[in-house]
Amino acid sequence: MTISKKQRTKLKCEVCGQSYFSWTDLNGEVDCQNCGMTYQILREIDGRKPPFTTLKTEWINALREYHNETKNRCRMGHYLGAYGGMVEEQNSFLKWIDTHHPELKRDN
Ligand SMILES: [Zn+2]
Repeated sequence: MTISKKQRTKLKCEVCGQSYFSWTDLNGEVDCQNCGMTYQILREIDGRKPPFTTLKTEWINALREYHNETKNRCRMGHYLGAYGGMVEEQNSFLKWIDTHHPELKRDN
């Protein structure tokens, strides 16, 4: 499901600059339809007020680099199952991480 126009206009993806997001299976979480970057837009968690990114900075930077280089998406949100193409997106991204940022694999 696509998020509302009101919610969408408040948020611009800090990885790719687009403003098209879809809900994940976690309450209040969306991911960017263009690159896969994930945001919490409804709930305050651990004192962080929405909207905020839900990935560590080093993974945000890696996703930005990956997306800039390949133009591929890797949905990073929480899902209850693997929807169309997700496994392939993740395998492709993790293969890229292996060669470009092997240090990230160690701390997940
Ligand atoms: Zn994006």
